[in-house]
Amino acid sequence: MESATADPHFVLVPWQGSISHIIPMTDIGRLLASHGAAVTIMTTPANAPLVQSRVEDLATTTPLPLPPGTAGTITVTAIPFPAAEAGLPEGCERMDHLRSPADVPRFFAANRQFGEAVARHCRSEAMPRRPSCVVAGMCHTWTLGMARELGVPCYIFHGFGAFALLCIEYLYKHRPHEAVSSADELVNIPVLPAFDCRLSRAQLPTHFAPSTTMGGGRMQEIREFDVAVDGVVVNSFQELEHGSCELLAAATGKTVVAVGPVSLCRSPTLDPQAMKDDARQVMEWLDTKETKSVVYVSFGSAGCMPPAQLMQLGMALASCSWPVVWVVKGTDDVKKWLRESFNDDSKCLVVRGWAPQVPILAHHAVGGFLTHCGWGSTLEAIAAGMPMATWPLFAEQFLNERLIVDVLGVGVSVGVTKPTENVLTAGTTNGSKADVEAEVGMEQVAKALERLMDQGDVGEQRRRKAQELKAKANGALEKGGSSYMNLEKLIQCAS
Ligand code: UDP
Repeated sequence: MESATADPHFVLVPWQGSISHIIPMTDIGRLLASHGAAVTIMTTPANAPLVQSRVEDLATTTPLPLPPGTAGTITVTAIPFPAAEAGLPEGCERMDHLRSPADVPRFFAANRQFGEAVARHCRSEAMPRRPSCVVAGMCHTWTLGMARELGVPCYIFHGFGAFALLCIEYLYKHRPHEAVSSADELVNIPVLPAFDCRLSRAQLPTHFAPSTTMGGGRMQEIREFDVAVDGVVVNSFQELEHGSCELLAAATGKTVVAVGPVSLCRSPTLDPQAMKDDARQVMEWLDTKETKSVVYVSFGSAGCMPPAQLMQLGMALASCSWPVVWVVKGTDDVKKWLRESFNDDSKCLVVRGWAPQVPILAHHAVGGFLTHCGWGSTLEAIAAGMPMATWPLFAEQFLNERLIVDVLGVGVSVGVTKPTENVLTAGTTNGSKADVEAEVGMEQVAKALERLMDQGDVGEQRRRKAQELKAKANGALEKGGSSYMNLEKLIQCAS
C-alpha cells in the first residue's frame, strides 16, 4: 500500500439502504474525481451495478472538461452484505427490499458486519492506495472507528440539505417540541434570522417522533456518530441555503462543505442509444408536448401512498388541464387500478417503475413538478429551474417544503398537515395500509396544480425565481464557484 502522503484518496461508503443516498454519493465521487482525487466507492454486490453505471461515463459527461490525465480515478468495490446470515432473504441489500418492519433490526445487524468487512478491506493490501479521507452515509456509524484507526478525517453525508440539518441541530439542542402537548401544535424553529419557521409537532423529522421503526437506540447511535465526525458534506450550494451552511458550521463546530447540486456532474440529456425502452417512451411522449405544458408527478424512490389517497390524487391528475407524467410506486392492486383507470396515455402517462427524473425535469415540455420534497428531487428541480408543488410525505421533507415555498419562493404548498404512512411503517414492502383515509382531496390537489401552472404574474415571478436559482446552481459548480471551491477545500482537508 502507498504512503499517506500520496495524492488524496477518498473512500466513499454510501448508505446502501436507499437508492436516493447511493445516487448523490456516487455523483460526489464523480465530482471529486473531476477535481483530480482518487476515489473508491465501497458498496454491496446488489448495488454495485447501479454505482458502476453512474461512474462509467465519467470521461465523457463531466461538465468540467479537464486536460487528459488530470481527472482522478474511481474504483467501485463490492463488499459482500451478509443478508442471509442476518435472517434476511439473499440479495436483500436495500431497505426497499425488506419484507416488513421486523426486518429493520436484521438489516442493521447485517450492516454492522458489512462495516467490519469494509474496515478489513481498507486495512488490507487489497486496497490499492491508503485512504486519506472517509465520507460515509449517516447510518454507517462504524466508519468513525475505521477512520480513527486509519488516522484520517471522517465526513458524514446525510442526504439532507443544510437548512434541514440546521433545523435538526436546533431541535436536538433546544428541544422545543418537548414543550408542546399535541401533534397539531406548532413548534418554532428560529434558525434563519429573517424567516419564521414553524412546523406542527407531527411534521417534524422522524428523529423527533415519539417512536420510530429505526428504534430509539439506533437513532441515538446515529446522533452520536453525527456529533463525533469531523465534517459534513452536503448536496447543496451555498447560494441556495441563505446562510444555513455557515450557521450549521457555527452550531456544530464542524467543517460544512456544500458541493452540489451533484446531479449536475452529468449531462441531463439521455444518450438515445443507452436509453431503456420505458425511459425512451417517456422522453418520446414529452417530445410531442408543448413547451412548459406538462406536470411531472413523482414521490421519490420509495414514496407510496395509501390507495384512497392515491385515488384522490389520480382523479385530480386525470381531470386537470395539463398533460401529466405520473410516476407511481405501489402494490399490485394499485397497479391494476391504474391500468384500468388511466388508459388514455395522451393525457396522463403513468410510469409504474423507475423514471429518468433528471432528464424529465430538463425537458422543455415540463412546466411544473409535484414533488414529495425529498432533498434529491428538490435539488434536481432547482438545478433544472423547475417550479414545484410540494407534498411532503415524511422525514425532513416538511422542512424542505418550508425552504422551497417560504424561503426560496419557487413552490406552492399542497397543504399537507401530517406525514403519510411510509412504506416501512405500513407493514408491507411495497404497500400502504388499505384502510387509511385520504387527507388531501382531489379539489385540494387541483387548486395546487392551478397555482403551480398559473400563467399570470404570480406564476411568472415563481418561474423567474426558479430560473435564477438554476443559473446560480450551475455557477456554483463552475470553476471558482462556491461548490467548486468547497470541493477543492475538501480535497485539501484530505491532503
Ligand atoms: N428517482 C428517479 N426515478 C424515479 C424515482 C426516483 O430517478 O422513478 C431518483 C430521483 O431523481 C432522486 C432520487 O431518486 O435522485 C430520489 O431521492 P429523493 O431524495 O428525492 O427522495 P427519496 O427517494 O429519498 O424519498
